[in-house]
Amino acid sequence: VEGASVFVLRLGHRPGRDRRVTTHVGLVARAFGAKGMFLTVEDKSVVESLRDVVERWGGEFSVRVASDWRGLLRRWKGVVVHLTMYGEPLDERLEELRRARGEVLVIVGAEKVPQWVFRRADYNISVGSQPHSEVAALAVFLDRFFCGEELRRDFKGRMRIVPSSRGKKVVTE
Ligand code: SAM
Repeated sequence: VEGASVFVLRLGHRPGRDRRVTTHVGLVARAFGAKGMFLTVEDKSVVESLRDVVERWGGEFSVRVASDWRGLLRRWKGVVVHLTMYGEPLDERLEELRRARGEVLVIVGAEKVPQWVFRRADYNISVGSQPHSEVAALAVFLDRFFCGEELRRDFKGRMRIVPSSRGKKVVTE
Protein backbone atom coordinates (compact mmCIF):
# COMPACT_ATOMS: atom_id res chain seq x y z
CA VAL A 1 0.00 0.00 0.00
CA GLU A 2 2.91 2.30 0.78
CA GLY A 3 3.67 2.75 -2.93
CA ALA A 4 0.11 2.33 -4.22
CA SER A 5 -1.03 4.95 -6.70
CA VAL A 6 -4.41 6.42 -5.97
CA PHE A 7 -6.17 8.97 -8.16
CA VAL A 8 -9.42 10.79 -7.45
CA LEU A 9 -12.20 11.52 -9.92
CA ARG A 10 -14.45 14.36 -8.89
CA LEU A 11 -17.79 13.83 -10.63
CA GLY A 12 -20.49 16.39 -11.28
CA HIS A 13 -18.62 19.56 -10.36
CA ARG A 14 -20.82 22.62 -10.89
CA PRO A 15 -18.56 25.61 -11.65
CA GLY A 16 -19.21 28.42 -9.23
CA ARG A 17 -21.34 26.54 -6.77
CA ASP A 18 -18.96 23.61 -6.08
CA ARG A 19 -15.72 25.53 -6.41
CA ARG A 20 -14.82 25.48 -2.75
CA VAL A 21 -15.77 21.87 -2.08
CA THR A 22 -14.01 20.64 -5.22
CA THR A 23 -10.89 22.54 -4.21
CA HIS A 24 -11.11 20.84 -0.83
CA VAL A 25 -11.49 17.44 -2.50
CA GLY A 26 -8.23 18.19 -4.32
CA LEU A 27 -6.44 19.47 -1.22
CA VAL A 28 -7.47 16.41 0.78
CA ALA A 29 -6.58 14.07 -2.09
CA ARG A 30 -3.06 15.53 -2.19
CA ALA A 31 -2.51 15.82 1.57
CA PHE A 32 -3.80 12.29 2.20
CA GLY A 33 -1.61 10.53 -0.31
CA ALA A 34 -3.35 10.50 -3.71
CA LYS A 35 -1.20 11.12 -6.79
CA GLY A 36 -3.66 13.24 -8.70
CA MET A 37 -7.18 14.37 -9.36
CA PHE A 38 -9.40 14.44 -12.42
CA LEU A 39 -12.09 17.07 -12.83
CA THR A 40 -14.88 16.35 -15.29
CA VAL A 41 -15.48 20.02 -16.01
CA GLU A 42 -12.92 22.71 -16.72
CA ASP A 43 -12.80 25.20 -13.85
CA LYS A 44 -9.71 27.34 -14.06
CA SER A 45 -9.89 28.73 -10.53
CA VAL A 46 -9.93 25.24 -8.99
CA VAL A 47 -7.10 23.96 -11.19
CA GLU A 48 -5.00 27.06 -10.57
CA SER A 49 -5.41 27.09 -6.80
CA LEU A 50 -4.50 23.40 -6.54
CA ARG A 51 -1.47 23.78 -8.82
CA ASP A 52 -0.40 26.76 -6.75
CA VAL A 53 -0.49 24.63 -3.58
CA VAL A 54 1.58 21.92 -5.28
CA GLU A 55 4.08 24.51 -6.50
CA ARG A 56 4.58 25.94 -3.00
CA TRP A 57 4.05 22.93 -0.77
CA GLY A 58 5.50 20.24 -3.02
CA GLY A 59 4.60 16.64 -3.64
CA GLU A 60 3.75 14.96 -6.89
CA PHE A 61 0.13 15.72 -7.56
CA SER A 62 -1.46 16.16 -10.96
CA VAL A 63 -4.67 18.05 -11.67
CA ARG A 64 -6.26 17.18 -14.97
CA VAL A 65 -9.58 17.73 -16.72
CA ALA A 66 -11.21 14.58 -18.10
CA SER A 67 -14.30 15.81 -19.97
CA ASP A 68 -14.63 12.29 -21.38
CA TRP A 69 -14.79 10.78 -17.90
CA ARG A 70 -16.83 7.78 -19.08
CA GLY A 71 -13.99 6.99 -21.47
CA LEU A 72 -11.50 7.40 -18.61
CA LEU A 73 -13.51 4.94 -16.53
CA ARG A 74 -13.87 2.45 -19.40
CA ARG A 75 -10.15 2.49 -20.03
CA TRP A 76 -9.01 2.47 -16.38
CA LYS A 77 -6.75 -0.56 -15.90
CA GLY A 78 -6.77 -0.73 -12.11
CA VAL A 79 -9.53 -0.82 -9.55
CA VAL A 80 -12.40 1.68 -9.56
CA VAL A 81 -13.83 2.54 -6.13
CA HIS A 82 -16.96 4.69 -5.95
CA LEU A 83 -17.58 6.28 -2.57
CA THR A 84 -21.30 6.38 -1.87
CA MET A 85 -23.39 6.21 1.27
CA TYR A 86 -25.37 3.38 -0.39
CA GLY A 87 -22.33 1.14 -0.79
CA GLU A 88 -20.78 -1.71 1.17
CA PRO A 89 -19.14 -0.75 4.46
CA LEU A 90 -15.50 0.23 4.01
CA ASP A 91 -14.36 -2.08 6.82
CA GLU A 92 -15.71 -5.11 4.99
CA ARG A 93 -13.69 -4.46 1.82
CA LEU A 94 -10.61 -2.66 3.04
CA GLU A 95 -8.23 -5.65 3.08
CA GLU A 96 -9.32 -6.67 -0.39
CA LEU A 97 -8.87 -3.14 -1.69
CA ARG A 98 -5.42 -2.89 -0.17
CA ARG A 99 -4.38 -6.04 -2.02
CA ALA A 100 -5.65 -4.72 -5.36
CA ARG A 101 -3.03 -4.32 -8.06
CA GLY A 102 -2.54 -1.35 -10.35
CA GLU A 103 -3.73 2.20 -9.95
CA VAL A 104 -6.78 2.83 -7.81
CA LEU A 105 -9.33 5.39 -9.00
CA VAL A 106 -11.57 6.75 -6.26
CA ILE A 107 -14.76 8.49 -7.41
CA VAL A 108 -16.57 11.07 -5.34
CA GLY A 109 -19.73 12.84 -6.46
CA ALA A 110 -21.31 16.23 -6.02
CA GLU A 111 -25.01 15.97 -6.79
CA LYS A 112 -26.71 12.78 -7.97
CA VAL A 113 -24.27 10.23 -9.38
CA PRO A 114 -25.47 8.41 -12.55
CA GLN A 115 -26.46 4.74 -12.13
CA TRP A 116 -23.89 3.82 -14.77
CA VAL A 117 -21.15 4.71 -12.28
CA PHE A 118 -22.56 2.27 -9.70
CA ARG A 119 -22.40 -0.46 -12.35
CA ARG A 120 -18.97 0.42 -13.72
CA ALA A 121 -17.32 0.70 -10.30
CA ASP A 122 -15.58 -2.46 -9.10
CA TYR A 123 -16.58 -1.43 -5.59
CA ASN A 124 -19.30 0.85 -4.25
CA ILE A 125 -18.05 1.71 -0.79
CA SER A 126 -19.64 3.61 2.06
CA VAL A 127 -17.89 5.40 4.88
CA GLY A 128 -20.75 4.86 7.28
CA SER A 129 -24.28 4.46 5.90
CA GLN A 130 -25.25 8.06 6.53
CA PRO A 131 -25.20 11.06 4.21
CA HIS A 132 -22.22 13.36 4.80
CA SER A 133 -19.58 14.85 2.57
CA GLU A 134 -17.29 13.90 -0.29
CA VAL A 135 -14.43 15.65 1.52
CA ALA A 136 -14.92 13.62 4.69
CA ALA A 137 -15.54 10.36 2.83
CA LEU A 138 -12.35 10.81 0.82
CA ALA A 139 -10.23 11.72 3.84
CA VAL A 140 -11.38 8.70 5.84
CA PHE A 141 -11.01 6.36 2.85
CA LEU A 142 -7.45 7.47 2.10
CA ASP A 143 -6.41 7.44 5.73
CA ARG A 144 -7.69 3.88 6.19
CA PHE A 145 -6.24 2.78 2.86
CA PHE A 146 -2.78 4.11 3.71
CA CYS A 147 -3.06 3.17 7.42
CA GLY A 148 -2.18 6.71 8.49
CA GLU A 149 1.27 6.51 6.83
CA GLU A 150 0.31 9.24 4.36
CA LEU A 151 0.37 11.88 7.10
CA ARG A 152 4.09 11.27 7.65
CA ARG A 153 5.09 11.78 4.02
CA ASP A 154 7.74 14.34 3.14
CA PHE A 155 6.36 16.53 0.37
CA LYS A 156 9.76 18.21 -0.20
CA GLY A 157 8.09 21.54 -0.84
CA ARG A 158 9.54 25.01 -1.16
CA MET A 159 7.47 25.79 1.91
CA ARG A 160 7.55 23.53 4.91
CA ILE A 161 5.85 23.72 8.27
CA VAL A 162 7.91 23.18 11.38
CA PRO A 163 5.32 21.70 13.72
CA SER A 164 5.03 23.62 16.93
CA SER A 165 2.82 23.58 19.95
CA ARG A 166 2.02 27.29 19.55
CA GLY A 167 2.22 29.77 16.74
CA LYS A 168 3.10 29.23 13.09
CA LYS A 169 6.53 28.19 11.94
CA VAL A 170 7.07 27.99 8.20
CA VAL A 171 10.42 27.58 6.46
CA THR A 172 10.67 28.85 2.90
CA GLU A 173 13.55 27.80 0.67
N1 SAM B 1 -27.32 12.87 -2.74
C1 SAM B 1 -26.22 12.45 -3.54
C2 SAM B 1 -26.47 11.05 -4.08
O1 SAM B 1 -27.55 10.54 -3.90
O2 SAM B 1 -25.58 10.50 -4.72
C3 SAM B 1 -24.92 12.49 -2.74
C4 SAM B 1 -24.53 13.87 -2.26
S1 SAM B 1 -23.09 13.88 -1.23
C5 SAM B 1 -23.10 15.50 -0.59
C6 SAM B 1 -21.75 14.00 -2.36
C7 SAM B 1 -20.80 12.86 -2.35
O3 SAM B 1 -20.32 12.63 -1.03
C8 SAM B 1 -21.33 11.52 -2.80
O4 SAM B 1 -21.41 11.41 -4.18
C9 SAM B 1 -20.29 10.57 -2.20
O5 SAM B 1 -19.17 10.44 -3.04
C10 SAM B 1 -19.89 11.29 -0.91
N2 SAM B 1 -20.51 10.71 0.29
C11 SAM B 1 -21.42 11.30 1.09
N3 SAM B 1 -21.75 10.50 2.11
C12 SAM B 1 -21.00 9.38 1.98
C13 SAM B 1 -20.86 8.17 2.74
N4 SAM B 1 -21.58 7.94 3.83
N5 SAM B 1 -20.01 7.24 2.31
C14 SAM B 1 -19.26 7.45 1.18
N6 SAM B 1 -19.34 8.56 0.44
C15 SAM B 1 -20.20 9.51 0.83
